[in-house]
Formats: sequence, C-alpha cells, structure tokens
Amino acid sequence: MNLSTEITYLKGVGEIRSALFKRELNISTVEDILYHFPLRYVDRTRILQIKDLKNDLSKVQLKGTIGHIQKGGNPRKPFLKAVFTDQTGSVNMVWFKQIQWIEKKLHEGEEYILFGKPSAYKGKFSFSHPELNLWSNNNQISNSLTAVYPLTELLKKRKIEQKIFREIFRKLLDGKGIFIPENLSKEIRNKFDLIDRQTAFIKIHMPDSQGELKLALRRLKFEELFFLQLRFLMIRQGRKTNAPGIIMPKVGHYFKKFYDDVLPFTLTDAQKNVVTEIWDDLKSGQQMNRLLQGDVGSGKTIVALLIALIAIDNGHQISIMAPTEILAQQHYKSFSDLLFPLGISIGLLTGSTKNSERKKLNADLQNGDCRILIGTHALIEEHVKFKSLGLVIIDEQHRFGVAQRARLLEKGNQHPHFLVMTATPIPRTMALSFYGDLDVSKIDQLPVGRKPIKTAVRAENERYKLYKFVKEQIQAGRQAYFVFPLIEASEKLNYKNLNHGFDQLVDVFKRPDFQVDMLHGGMSSLEKRAAMKRFEEGICNILVATTVVEVGVNVPNASIMVIESSEKFGLSQLHQLRGRVGRGAYQSYCILMTGSKISETSKKRLIAMVHTNDGFKLAEYDLKLRGPGEMDGTRQSGGPQLKLTSMVEDEDLLVECRGAAQELIINDPNLDKAENVEIRNYLKSKNKYKDWTNIA
Ligand code: ADP
Ligand code: MG
Repeated sequence: MNLSTEITYLKGVGEIRSALFKRELNISTVEDILYHFPLRYVDRTRILQIKDLKNDLSKVQLKGTIGHIQKGGNPRKPFLKAVFTDQTGSVNMVWFKQIQWIEKKLHEGEEYILFGKPSAYKGKFSFSHPELNLWSNNNQISNSLTAVYPLTELLKKRKIEQKIFREIFRKLLDGKGIFIPENLSKEIRNKFDLIDRQTAFIKIHMPDSQGELKLALRRLKFEELFFLQLRFLMIRQGRKTNAPGIIMPKVGHYFKKFYDDVLPFTLTDAQKNVVTEIWDDLKSGQQMNRLLQGDVGSGKTIVALLIALIAIDNGHQISIMAPTEILAQQHYKSFSDLLFPLGISIGLLTGSTKNSERKKLNADLQNGDCRILIGTHALIEEHVKFKSLGLVIIDEQHRFGVAQRARLLEKGNQHPHFLVMTATPIPRTMALSFYGDLDVSKIDQLPVGRKPIKTAVRAENERYKLYKFVKEQIQAGRQAYFVFPLIEASEKLNYKNLNHGFDQLVDVFKRPDFQVDMLHGGMSSLEKRAAMKRFEEGICNILVATTVVEVGVNVPNASIMVIESSEKFGLSQLHQLRGRVGRGAYQSYCILMTGSKISETSKKRLIAMVHTNDGFKLAEYDLKLRGPGEMDGTRQSGGPQLKLTSMVEDEDLLVECRGAAQELIINDPNLDKAENVEIRNYLKSKNKYKDWTNIA
C-alpha cells in the first residue's frame, strides 16, 4: 500500500464510504486521508480533579468512588442517579437508558475511572451517561490521546463518525502495511530535530502522549513550511536563469530632466536607496521581482514614477495597476501633471473607459506612443498589447500572490520587470507566505516635516465639539474626510450611514461657507471623478465617503479624518483610512467615532490606533487579535494552502524553514546531491518543479 492507493482498497472503507469521502471531504487516496488531520484530541492520559472542572471543558477523566445510587422519575421516564467522589469533591451522574443493566454494573464504594463531558446543573457538575471502568480491572489509565476529526453533516447522517475514522487510521497505520516515503534529508532532520515522516503521520493520528503529538506536529509543520519556501526560492531561481530581464542600462534625458527641473521636493534617503536598488535590478539582465514596502504616506508613488522614467529612457513602456478606479484616476492625474513638462503620453484604462477611447488607447500602446498605462484590474482582464512592455507596477494589491502575478506576466513574450508596492505593512509571516519569491525593499522613513497624526476616540455626546473643531480647521484652510461604513441606513445594524450622515453634515456645515460632497461606490464613475476633483482642488471642504477612499488617495491639504462607527472597521482598514491625512506639512487628526456598545476586541483595536502610528506594529497586532481562526480568510484570498501551520503562532518555525530552504538552494541549487535525494524525489512526485501556481 502506498500514498497513491485509492481509499476504496482500505480496510473499513469500501465503495460507498469512499464515494462519500470523495464527495464530502475531497479524499480519494491514502495520501489525502493521511492529510485529513484531527481537529483536536481527547486527552485520556490525564486525570482531572473534581475541583478543577470547568464548564467549557470537553471530555475529561476523573478517578473516584461511586456512592448513593438512586432510581427516580416515573415508570414511563425512569432515571438512575449516582454520586461520584474524589478527594476534592463530588459530581452527579445520570442515566436515562439501559438503567437496569447499568445499575447492575455499578458497585458502591469501588474505585472507577469516569470519562465524559461535564455540564453544570444547579451549581453542581453532572455527567450524563459517562463511561465508567473499574480501576481494579487494569489499574491504569488509557495511555493515549484520541483524535477527533472534522466531519460534515452528511457524514454524520450516514453514521460515519469518529470511531470509523479512528478505525481506518488504526488499520492503516498500525501494521507494517503502509510505506510513507521520507521527504527531508537526514541532515535537515538532524539539524532541526525532526522525527521521520512515517512516524510523524502515525503519531499525529494516534499519539500516545502530548509529547509525541508535539514532535509529530513539529515535523509536519516544518515540512509544510519548508516546501512552501523551497518552491518560492525555486521559482525565484528559475526566473533568474530562465527569464532574462530586459536590460535598462541608462539613466537618460527624461529621468535627468525630471529630477533636476520638476521633482517638487527632495527625496528622502530611504526613497533614494530604493530607487538605486531598483535601478540595479533593471541593469542586471535578470528580471526584477520586487516587493516595495512603505507605510502610508512614505512616498511610494514618486519612486514608481522615477523608475518608470528609467524604463522610458530605455525605450520601454510601463503599466501600473491600482486596486480601485479612484486610485487609478488619481495616479493618472498626478502622473499627468508631473510629466506634462516632459511631454510623456499617459493612458488610463478602467472598467468605465469608453470603447472608442479603448480603441485609440490600444493603437497607441501598440505603436508605442503611449508610454505609461495606468489602470485597474481591467489591465489584466483585457487583451492589452504593448509595443514593448518593460515594467509592471502593482500598487496596493495586498494579496497579489504568485498565481495572480503569473497570469499578469503570461501576456507578453518578454519578461517585464515587476514591482509590487504595498503600504499594508504585512507581518513577516504573511510577507513570506505571499511574497516569498520576491526580493524586498523598504521605505522606512517618512518625508521630513511630517507631524505624527493625532488619533482620538470620541463618543456621540462629543459630536458637536468635533464639528466645532472641524470648522476651525476648515477656516484655517484645511479639509476633512468623514468616512461611513455603509451607504444606506440598515435597521438591524446600527451603523452610522452615509446618506443620513451627509444630510446632517450639510445641515451643520452650511453653504455658502462650506462645501460638502459625497463619494461612494454607488455613484457613476463620472460623478466619482467630479467629486474627487472638487476635493483635490480644494473647492469641497468636506468629503463624505465610504471606504472607496481607503487606499492610496492623496490630498495633502486634508488634515482631518473622521471615521464614523469606527468599531466596524478592521485595524488595517483604519490605518489605511488614517493614512489619507498627515500627507502634508499640517498637523493632522484622526477621530474615531464610536457607538456606545462596542466589543472588547473593537475596543482593543481602537486603543491600538490611538497608541501607535506605526503600520507594521498594527499589522502584527491585528494578526494576533484576529487569531489563527482567520486563516481561512487568507486561504480564500489566494494565500498558501497551509493545513497545520498558523501565521500567528508559527512565525519562528517559518523563519527556520525559510533559512533551511535558502541553505539548500545555495548548496545544491539543482538538488542533484545524493544526500538530497528524498527532497528531489518528493518534488518530482508532486511535479512541483513546474506546477508552482498552486502555492497561491
Ligand atoms: P504612499 O507611500 O502612501 O503611496 P504617496 O506616494 O502618495 O504615499 O506620497 C504621499 C505624499 O507625500 C504625496 O503628497 C507626495 O507628493 C509626498 N511626498 C512623497 N515623497 C516626498 C518627499 N520626499 N518629500 C516631501 N513630500 C513627499
Ligand atoms: Mg500610494
């Protein structure tokens, strides 16, 4: 029996069950079922004392004596009761079925091991239908942990329960019938204290102790992360050999002219370093694949523009992709303004670009007249052809994994350089798991003269004070955002809603002294553009918006960000929203308005916002607050398929695995040394040399 054996051939499975497994759990081979890991374990290696019982415990074991056996109820509904006592207290036991049989088996005064789930009833713990074993029978407690597997409703209905799974695994793993090939080298196993693979699978399904379980988990988690990182590094290496980069050797006329005559400020050292780092890539003859991290407001756009100019100087075109139409338009506008003196032609392509414009744009891209194409997802979806696409920049796509990137690059026959820019300073674990194949650059410095944004939490009764403050700021020449979580009133959810909020603000901030505008996703693209323009030009003082302004929007004169029902937003969203202010020299403020009833977690988020402006710290904290439970979310949004590891708890292990994979790639880049035969065979068997898109 080996890993690819169909489960139909397993003892205790058969045709019907295997069809059910396939349908319900997507399990068809031995390998699949081995990877159907337990959700948790029932620990029968430990005996609890009655005084330590808690209501939320799953099944527990107690050791004590039985006393006070008593029948009750009526002939139709009889029950049997008894008391169970240890040195620390007593609990009740009840039975409603098989009463006579049970009564015969219970002996007062004798010692038993009780196993069951406690529930609190009238201030006392009680067990219904507990399992009881005479202590004198074998004088020992069970020495194993019992695995509990995830099941579906249908499986339960068809009577496929825990026992059946345990039996299948017992038959599969107990004997010598199965062979699970090792996939890590001896060297790695020794260095990182890892047990062998076969034992690990046996022990994760049938551990005899917590200690064994721990070893099994460490081994299998290591494997999961190690191969993820190894594949990332192999992709990277493969690109270096197979994807000759377009060489961009010179800094020419456009770059120089812009730098000397147009650039409106001095670059920060961090920006300069990053431009140099990127330019080194562009000269290298290898395709650049780089992640540019920099907190909100650190000035990533100008870096993108400068390297775009290098590409143009070398005769190539650039495409820049933004996550929202508003951001695409804004980039289009600022690039157009800044590059106007140089006479560089720029195109905009979004979902709402008209057909006639599209045709013209396509023609210009193909004959090379249009140098920079800025757009939304439409850039990927539509068949845009370039004369010579040299550089692709992705702005603020937080989870643009390997697969998405591959799709974007599939288009051309050359290998354009690639830059992903993000302000959501994702925690290290996430960065390694999503962007493990990329080189990383950081802008770790804000432009000079920025004042830290002041953040405060305010309740409804302070609203008029807030309005007064906003008025003062506007009179001093500044502008404000008011962001709402929803557009329309929702009866059930008592969120502040945009329409209502807008009316209220128009009432307070009266014309002609104040101009209040609305911006939300329900507006037409034309309306959105008009509203944004009025705000950018300072005609509008207050922009009442939904999260369409969340990423990228840049109006340096705006100094106030009011977030309504702020408890409804996630931490990274709040930070992104706050990042819309504090982008100029003015002291800026972020006001987090909250309802009266907010959860503990929301409270923690808001406090974290008040305490730090550092996006990286907030991202790490966010991951901790949300916990590993959220990992499913990342799975759906293109994250790696991690079955065992958690991005919250296994950071250290991830770093170890990254290191091990790196070392391997350096010492044996083609995996042809004898000692790495297991790794090589495993990758081959998975065909993972080629098929790497399933990482993301
Ligand atoms: P982000 O990194 O969030 O994308 P932007 O690129 O939008 O930030 O820049 C934020 C603001 O800072 C913009 O108004 C931009 O013009 C300005 N800016 C960028 N770099 C500098 C600098 N070195 N000195 C002063 N202002 C800068
Ligand atoms: Mg930006």
